[in-house]
Amino acid sequence: MNTRDLSSHTVYRAGRGVEEVARDLGLDPADLVKLSSNENPFGPSPEAVAAIREHADRVSRYPKTAHTDLRAKIADRLGVTAEQVWLSPSGDVGLDYLARAVIGAGQRVLVPRPGFAYYAMSARYHHGAVDKYHLDPADDFAQPPERVLDAYDGHRVVYVTSPHNPTGSEMALDDVRTVAEATDEETLVVLDEAYHQFSEAPTGLDLVGERDDVALLRTFSKAYGLAGMRLGFAVVPEEWADAYARVNTPFGVTELTCRAGLAALDDEEHVDKTIETARWAREYVHEHIDASVRDSGGNFVLVDVGDASAVIDACQREGVILRDCTSFGLPERVRITCGTRDETKRAVDTLNEVLAEVDSCASQ
Ligand SMILES: *Cc1c(COP(=O)(O)O)cnc(C)c1O
Repeated sequence: MNTRDLSSHTVYRAGRGVEEVARDLGLDPADLVKLSSNENPFGPSPEAVAAIREHADRVSRYPKTAHTDLRAKIADRLGVTAEQVWLSPSGDVGLDYLARAVIGAGQRVLVPRPGFAYYAMSARYHHGAVDKYHLDPADDFAQPPERVLDAYDGHRVVYVTSPHNPTGSEMALDDVRTVAEATDEETLVVLDEAYHQFSEAPTGLDLVGERDDVALLRTFSKAYGLAGMRLGFAVVPEEWADAYARVNTPFGVTELTCRAGLAALDDEEHVDKTIETARWAREYVHEHIDASVRDSGGNFVLVDVGDASAVIDACQREGVILRDCTSFGLPERVRITCGTRDETKRAVDTLNEVLAEVDSCASQ
């Protein structure tokens, strides 16, 4: 037998791992700086690590109490009910839960291009079809509501990312509201706030309270430094209270993941340091890089380098791993994740040297 027709499904291309690159180049992983996946440069919260160790001997039991406790804690922090918090093993799976809850076979969704690849992947897994709205480099990838609404044609789901990955641009809350108001009652607006901690803009939480057609997505992979644990959640309209039990994979979030999440939420020092350093790094790159950089609300910046693939290879040979944005449809740009102060400085120095070399080669 065969699989169903998967020809429209795309393969996710992750940023390259430290061990992978070190092996290829014959370098020591410790000498590499990896700023390609928007991970937390300080690692996980030490409190989260302690919680994982402390609960390691409980993993023979299905996770129940920890799951309830984490849902309650998040709900309490955000001022919503626990039923509105759809805890999931990663933000990606949070998108899957939303898709399971709303997308019927053949229904269309609208995703940003450039944008986060998993929206389209998730929609297709759930038998949806995908259309795109385009963010324009000439307009600095701005996200006015017309960008979405001009492409909108009764779609079942509209995905909005703010701060947007990989450009860093933001959609103002009033503009998200405009999109929700202008689209049909049966259209869900998913506002992906994977990076909201790094932004100075208000979250869309109020919109979820006001309306029954907006859901938020959050993750513990970025500001909380738990990318390897796979933890995220959606915040859904109050009206959807009993749908979670009908769409979630039972015990999808592990005991240790819940414990890590609970501890990470309490470690304000770790999150504060992470946010503060990311904001410093964004400024630093702006001031010191010899190329055009976009303002960013996230823990990364998008840099216009001319030929991303050549620049990425050259930086990698110097031990600095950046993200080639060709797979996002931006072959001239690289995305630099905000590192520690030392990592960020090294990345900027390396990139500047590489850019100078490319320039001098070009002029010969
Ligand atoms: C990182 C990210 C997510 C979620 O990541 P997970 O690691 O699956 O939790 C969601 N949206 C965007 C735009 C992201 O960059």
